[in-house]
Amino acid sequence: MKAPYPFVNIHTHHPSISFHEIINCDIVENVPNDDKKLYSIGIHPWNASYLSWKKWQSVVENYASHPSVLAIGETGIDILRGTSKTEQQDIFLEHIRIADSCNKPLIIHCVRAFNEIIECKKKSKSKVPWIIHGFSSRQTIADELLAHGCFLSFGAAILYNRPHLEKICKTVPENMFFIENDDSALPISLIYEKIADIRSVSVEYLQLKLYEQWHRIFLDKNM
Ligand SMILES: [Zn+2]
Repeated sequence: MKAPYPFVNIHTHHPSISFHEIINCDIVENVPNDDKKLYSIGIHPWNASYLSWKKWQSVVENYASHPSVLAIGETGIDILRGTSKTEQQDIFLEHIRIADSCNKPLIIHCVRAFNEIIECKKKSKSKVPWIIHGFSSRQTIADELLAHGCFLSFGAAILYNRPHLEKICKTVPENMFFIENDDSALPISLIYEKIADIRSVSVEYLQLKLYEQWHRIFLDKNM
């Protein structure tokens, strides 16, 4: 018998018919527009600047407390794109403040700035869950993020035969990861199938565990 659990997708840019996915809204480009859907809200690091923050801060803050908004982000630091590191970090700290004030998890985009992200975590003493989305970095970085209580979220990169990433995905504790399809148009079920295979569990088992995790991290705290 097939378990009736959905494919939870914690970060997507391609809304589907699912009610168990978080649609990313970079406020500079789009806003939540369907009361039955679930969203994360913020300014993507590529668009983050003192100017864009000044313009959009109050809009982000207003949406942040909306019940359809389950998380703050994607936010973070990207060394390869966007404005200066200092500027991105300052805007990231603002997102952290908002996430803590409305008690919602952070969805984090990080490219070559993991030390800075961990520093921000220590400095801010943030109490909400931090989820590093689209994780595809090294084992030592995974270990350090996990040691600081960050969740890892795996996306389509896992499909492209990357042994080091498969090893991380195989050994990450069951209660410390999520699955997403991000900006890939591939169905989330494909990524579940691959990760179930890597972890030697059934797809149904993975669906159940991530469904429980979804409730624990995103929903039950509000009940
Ligand atoms: Zn994304």
